[in-house]
Amino acid sequence: MTPTPHMIPAAKPLIGSEERLAVDAVLRSGMLAQGPEVAAFEAEFSSHFVLGRPTVALNSGTSGQHLGLLASGVGPGDEVIVPSFTFAAVANSVALTGATPVFADIEPDYFTLDPERVRAAITERTRGIMPVHLYGHPFQVDAIEAIARDHGLAIYEDAAQAHGASWNDRPVGTIGEFAMFSLYPTKNMTAIEGGMVSCASSETARQLKLLRNQGMATQYANEVIGFNARMSDVHAAVGRAQLRKVDAWTRTRQRNAAFLDRELALVPGVTPPRVAPEATHVYHQYTIRVDAAERDRIRTALREEHGVATGVYYPIPNHRLPSLAQYAPADALTESDRAAAEVLSLPVHPSLTDGELQRIVAGVVAVAAAGS
Ligand SMILES: *Cc1c(COP(=O)(O)O)cnc(C)c1O
Repeated sequence: MTPTPHMIPAAKPLIGSEERLAVDAVLRSGMLAQGPEVAAFEAEFSSHFVLGRPTVALNSGTSGQHLGLLASGVGPGDEVIVPSFTFAAVANSVALTGATPVFADIEPDYFTLDPERVRAAITERTRGIMPVHLYGHPFQVDAIEAIARDHGLAIYEDAAQAHGASWNDRPVGTIGEFAMFSLYPTKNMTAIEGGMVSCASSETARQLKLLRNQGMATQYANEVIGFNARMSDVHAAVGRAQLRKVDAWTRTRQRNAAFLDRELALVPGVTPPRVAPEATHVYHQYTIRVDAAERDRIRTALREEHGVATGVYYPIPNHRLPSLAQYAPADALTESDRAAAEVLSLPVHPSLTDGELQRIVAGVVAVAAAGS
């Protein structure tokens, strides 16, 4: 028997000595809760990614999305149009405000909201649209903005997977009334757990800061009913160290993706990801399509015969989840269902070696050929 090669993981958080030293310095300082590290992280994140827009750190991306909607005045009686083919945090955050998430279908090329389906989902209750820059590829910014303008709707960006992505050189996170970035360990950069919300107005940022801290701007002078959704200085210290590395990681992700594009272009049964001409893709995921009936076999063979771990994001569209099925629309979400059955994400993370990239390609080529 040939020895099984080491497993190439689907994702790999990169924590180095810079992060460890920064955490240690905060632990030694004795100032652990939200403090100067959080304030510095907000300022640095803002100038790094979102052209200096007011930016607020929270304990998770989901908190950012939920509290961002509350800060924007979304609540009972409102509808917010969301994709079904994404992580459940999107619809959850809408539903938790008391508003109704309205699922619209995606377009097949980039897995992001289909502008025509968004238009068709608008009612007199629609308050906004929450499109997702899925896998690190921006949503159809021009078309979604045109719809929002025509109907007087807000855009709430989900940039959880898209740190550094852009559309016609406009950075994601500068398009909507607010934009949420996640700092979960597998995202393009991490604070272990955490979220950042960039806001179009300083008033939204002020509301968000109140909501994350029991409604207080001044201690014990609570202005509104709020949450504890603060980021700690320990987490912010990790995030600040990551911020100095993320651009190099993004370039490596893009280089890895270019290699996979080249090598997988002509493999029968494999459809590599497409990139819109306006888009700069940051490859949170490198997601191919395969025949739905073959996907399980391909995943298993890649793992067991080639030592390549893969991911399926997301196997069940939100409108079919037990938690969210109550919001399933009358119209079929054909492309969301098809994507859920066909997508397969290959490793693209920045720690892949050339040899590992070659093993991924050789594995996909061999496994795809075995099925034909
Ligand atoms: C990760 C993610 C979230 C939630 O972020 P957390 O930091 O895990 O709360 C929301 N939307 C999308 C698309 C995500 O990938």
